[in-house]
Amino acid sequence: MRIRARLDAIGDKVLDGTRVSAEEAVLLLEHEDLTTLGAMGDLVRRRKHTDGVVTYIVDRNINYTNVCNAFCNFCAFYRPPNHDEGYVLPVEEIEAKIRETHDLGGNQILLQGGHHPKLKIEYYEELFRRLKSSFPDLWLHALSPPEIVHIVRVSRLELPEALRRLREAGLDSVPGGGAEILVDRVRRKLAKNKCSSQEWLDVMEEAHRQGLRSTATMMFGHVETLAERVEHLERVRELQDRTGGFTAFIGWTYQSENTELGGREATTAEYLRMLAVSRVFLDNIENVQASWVTQGPKIGSASLAFGANDMGSTMLEENVVSAAGTVHQMLEPEIVAAIRDAGFIPMRRNMYYERL
Ligand code: SF4
Repeated sequence: MRIRARLDAIGDKVLDGTRVSAEEAVLLLEHEDLTTLGAMGDLVRRRKHTDGVVTYIVDRNINYTNVCNAFCNFCAFYRPPNHDEGYVLPVEEIEAKIRETHDLGGNQILLQGGHHPKLKIEYYEELFRRLKSSFPDLWLHALSPPEIVHIVRVSRLELPEALRRLREAGLDSVPGGGAEILVDRVRRKLAKNKCSSQEWLDVMEEAHRQGLRSTATMMFGHVETLAERVEHLERVRELQDRTGGFTAFIGWTYQSENTELGGREATTAEYLRMLAVSRVFLDNIENVQASWVTQGPKIGSASLAFGANDMGSTMLEENVVSAAGTVHQMLEPEIVAAIRDAGFIPMRRNMYYERL
């Protein structure tokens, strides 16, 4: 079959609501035009979210430490152990940041950090208990899978036991960071000291089994092929078929400034194409976020016509992407305006995507 006929057949499947295969998703990424991909992403999004609402959350990123022994070559945020600029935030400072978030009406924090060689599970248990006692309604969206694998290793624990202890100390949900591309060839090129693809998925599967929800992410536009991007989506989709634990998918593009890896960054069109194909392929994930933090507010709004139904977080503080040279800021009124400008109804949500 000629390429156009095959693309049309895939388009028919999307119209019918039939699941698209990995091979078909690669064909879409390779050959379909941008506007058709946008229409497909938008169609799937409108089927899942019929009332024209686009959600967002008021929360804050807190990076409790930048000390890290994973040495990922795409990361401009970390400092190696014993570096002059390494820090571990004092708990009082973390509390002050949460208080500021509370004053702006937010009760969730996204707490993530480097792989600090000296922080064992007791540090997190103590921190979580203290934060929960200072702020009883706080939602702790904390510790991406690679951090949890690191804690398991330095604390010499088994994963189920570590997750159980973190949950009992106050962990509410798990952010999907550190997935990059869930293909080990890619991970060996970017982050050879970080957990494997299977370990990332194992943490999520165990978290879901213990009743914790999580997000799934993808950072693309570096050393991966289009087929590897789709392989990543396939692994996420397979796990979601088994557990249903992912609340949302968030894809963003690699930011190259100040990184050891360097190189070019994905274009806006590449971002939008990937967003639309992710929406079509991940038919079992309800919510897809726009990445205005890497793309800027205007492309963030445009993403809502390519399959995204969520504008993510107000990001009162962002340290990781900004360390790689990209600084975009939107507070709540700007997010609301951007959603309205794109023709949708803005609504605040919590981590479960329940509207507030
Ligand atoms: S991406 Fe995370 S794990 Fe990798 S070097 Fe940066 S802080 Fe460490």
